[in-house]
Amino acid sequence: MKMTRAKVWMDGQLVNFEDAKVHVLTHGLHYGTGVFEGIRVYETSQGRAIFRLREHMVRFLESAKMIELKVPYSVDELCVACRDVVRGAPADGDYLRPIAYFGLNPQGNIGVNPLRMPTNVSIACTHMGAYVGKEQLENGANVITSSWEKPSSRSALLTAKATGNYLNSVLARLEAIKRGADEAIMLNADGTVAEGTGENIFLVRRGKILTPPLSAGILEGITRDSIITLAAEMGSVVVERDIARAELYTADEVFMTGTAAEVTPIGTIDGISVGKGKAGPVTKGLQSAFAQVVKGEDPRHMAWLDLV
Ligand code: PMP
Repeated sequence: MKMTRAKVWMDGQLVNFEDAKVHVLTHGLHYGTGVFEGIRVYETSQGRAIFRLREHMVRFLESAKMIELKVPYSVDELCVACRDVVRGAPADGDYLRPIAYFGLNPQGNIGVNPLRMPTNVSIACTHMGAYVGKEQLENGANVITSSWEKPSSRSALLTAKATGNYLNSVLARLEAIKRGADEAIMLNADGTVAEGTGENIFLVRRGKILTPPLSAGILEGITRDSIITLAAEMGSVVVERDIARAELYTADEVFMTGTAAEVTPIGTIDGISVGKGKAGPVTKGLQSAFAQVVKGEDPRHMAWLDLV
């Protein structure tokens, strides 16, 4: 197991990996009152670059706003901090994890009310590699539809990348592992497709590319947005509409997108093969277009790369 012991930015200071600790009475630890991001760092011919850094930090502050967490840093300041962390990280540090949360009450009290808790912010860099798996990136992942329902927008802030939302994802991921699958797709209360535990979902059927809308209860993925843009450049308009569970089984291709998962083809769903059971032509085309962008080989999207 690789260990990337890069310095961690904590509330404005770079501290050693071993010293990046929190107190056990931290509010966010007990009640899931935090927001976070996951951001990839790629090797390009011009050096290391952070992918769509600004968009990630904008979403970070928007997530914080939704849970009424006051973050005392601007998007620009957070971007500078991310670059500083990457600069000091070993070459295998390919993933940034900013997090902000309600911290420790100065009196050491604990209770649900977050209002008298200070905000803490930190940014760490670690090694991610292929998230779902190298073999899955090439040949397709085996996924299940989870028995855990995606919470509705009446019970959670689904467009916030909030820590508390992820217990649901963790349960679905555990279920997938116990059933011998790589990943789980969650359905929402209407029974339509929401998203993976950390990925957005796309389908290809009869030449059309489909993806669930935000109203299906999903995170507004930055990779999702990148794929919608790249598909349009390749001449396909991605249609955002509700997707019935049954459509997963008759799709020609299904793939997942996410910072960690990048573009991961899906080979089987609930044991039923998707199309030919491996990465189809549309998925492969988008996967290689995305790979070119992140390596800095697509002049149209250099603005998505923030050189460190
Ligand atoms: N949905 C969920 C629940 C996620 O955690 C993620 C990962 N951030 C995504 C979708 C994909 O978002 P992005 O492409 O911005 O990483």
